[in-house]
Amino acid sequence: MKNLKYILASIVIFTVFATTSFSHEENNQLFRKEWTMIAKVQVKNFKQGLKTLSEMDYDIAGVDFNQKIIDVLINHHQYMALKLKGFDVSIAETKGVTRGPDKNYKNPEEIETIVKDFHARFKDITKLVSIGKSLEGRDIWALKISDDPAANDLSEPTVLFNSMHHAREIMTPEVSIDIIEYLLENYQSEQKVTDWVNNTQIWVIPMFNVDGNNKMWNHDSWWRKNTRGGYGVDLNRNYPTGWDSCNGSSGSRSSQTYRGPSPASEPETQAMMDFIKEVRPVFDISYHAYSELVIYPFGCGDQRTQTKEVVEKIGNKIGSLLNYKAGTAWELLYNADGGDIDWMYDAYQVIPFVIELNNSRAGFHPKYKKWRDKTVERNRDGWQFLLNRVQKSGVRGVVSMAKSNLSDFTVEVYKLENGSEKLFQTYVGHHTGAYHIVLNPGSYRLKIKTINKIVNTTDVEVQDELLTQNIAI
Ligand SMILES: [Zn+2]
Repeated sequence: MKNLKYILASIVIFTVFATTSFSHEENNQLFRKEWTMIAKVQVKNFKQGLKTLSEMDYDIAGVDFNQKIIDVLINHHQYMALKLKGFDVSIAETKGVTRGPDKNYKNPEEIETIVKDFHARFKDITKLVSIGKSLEGRDIWALKISDDPAANDLSEPTVLFNSMHHAREIMTPEVSIDIIEYLLENYQSEQKVTDWVNNTQIWVIPMFNVDGNNKMWNHDSWWRKNTRGGYGVDLNRNYPTGWDSCNGSSGSRSSQTYRGPSPASEPETQAMMDFIKEVRPVFDISYHAYSELVIYPFGCGDQRTQTKEVVEKIGNKIGSLLNYKAGTAWELLYNADGGDIDWMYDAYQVIPFVIELNNSRAGFHPKYKKWRDKTVERNRDGWQFLLNRVQKSGVRGVVSMAKSNLSDFTVEVYKLENGSEKLFQTYVGHHTGAYHIVLNPGSYRLKIKTINKIVNTTDVEVQDELLTQNIAI
């Protein structure tokens, strides 16, 4: 009798709680605050497991290909759902007892101080600019390293390295800072560094998602997005190319991959787009964490770049240098739409890579002393390879013609084989007339097109070294 009363009372209490007027989203928030944890999901079929978890809109933190383990950041509710579905899942870290980020990693103010100090110490070979303001009004800093930093030297190719689209990936600014430090401290004492700085325009953005990172330090150590409306937009799902096109993002504000209400809705995204349009990098690396991957475009299933024989060759090479796995997001993980690298390639034919630093033993909060130096040192081979590769096979030059035509010109690149031409790439020209097309060695035909009319045709032989081909019209 007593038991029955107890059971009845429990049912009443349960019903009251279950019907309390929390929306699904609020429920998620409520659980996230109190119960967030990192769980390790052991799967037999890696691809299928990833697909299921990503379709359930779980926050996938990282993967371990060898052990077939997927790390997810989930609440208690989601944990139970996984158990019910029969997943082999164990809790690795729970918020509240987690050690949190090591204070040696940098916050936005520290990054600002660091780049200003470097600029002050190396005035002759650096230029410091804010590429725009974040939603909360913070500057997004970019440091240019070159022998003549004030000028936009049309004869020199540009390379970009950027870190931290995602606020909790605290190792990523360390790699950017290491790039800056390595180049500046070794200029004129190490020949290869001197050559890179003298012959390239190198841009580094050490912390892109400044607001998100501030929130990560002060409110939520696993924060990923920017800070829009308190819920945040995933900046790396907010770019226009392929936005909301292949289930590679979410329309729900509470999701970690919320794409925002419209393409490029966020000021940070717009700042990056304006910057890319102006400086036109030949190569880009966007640093993320974690999983030890080199990812190249495109993010949606079965899509590959027009120049995949160039893009993927370089990406695979970086992968082999770092001993990271290389491929597209959909090959390695799952569909991702609205990412920066897809837009950079699509809009301006930048050859861009996402590098996911570190493995799941490091996670989001690697101990600084244990992981920092070995991570940045291991990654030097990657960015240094690109600084070498940008001076190798390809063609660059300046097209000179009437200013009105410069505002809208393309270079159609054809591969010449057995007397016939095959379209290889359509390259959007820069308003200064500059172009730089990365190629494998071979015979090519360049057709300069302006306002839908071909105004020049030039054949070139591309060898191992970068070819300069200025074209006067
Ligand atoms: Zn990331």
